[in-house]
Amino acid sequence: MANKDLTPVAKDIITTCTKCKLELRHVVVAQDRAGVVTKVRCYTCGTEHKYHPEKRHAETRKKTASIEKYTNLMEQHKDKDPRPYGMNEKYDIHDVIEHKVFGKGIVTKSNDQKIDVLFETGQRILACGR
Ligand SMILES: [Zn+2]
Repeated sequence: MANKDLTPVAKDIITTCTKCKLELRHVVVAQDRAGVVTKVRCYTCGTEHKYHPEKRHAETRKKTASIEKYTNLMEQHKDKDPRPYGMNEKYDIHDVIEHKVFGKGIVTKSNDQKIDVLFETGQRILACGR
């Protein structure tokens, strides 16, 4: 399946910022004639960059492994109440979070500004403690 994003101009999209190196909220600024998103602007740093849809093909095997890891971790920490994700918050390793877009995830690494979170859809790096 082709991974084409048809989000309209001026709407928000979550994608990796090429400058911040994080999954962040962006606004769509340009599309090609078919309506596919080509350019986005990061709300956090203000940089405009090309929209890079995530490459899903080669990652299928990796994904299966990460789903297993996700399921195991969630099972071990199933008694924890999920905390809503917000980039001003601080999280500790193995905190269960609830993300508006990605759903439930578990923190696998934590430092001052970033957390690695494992979601059912895979590992993502999110901003925190801002
Ligand atoms: Zn940015």
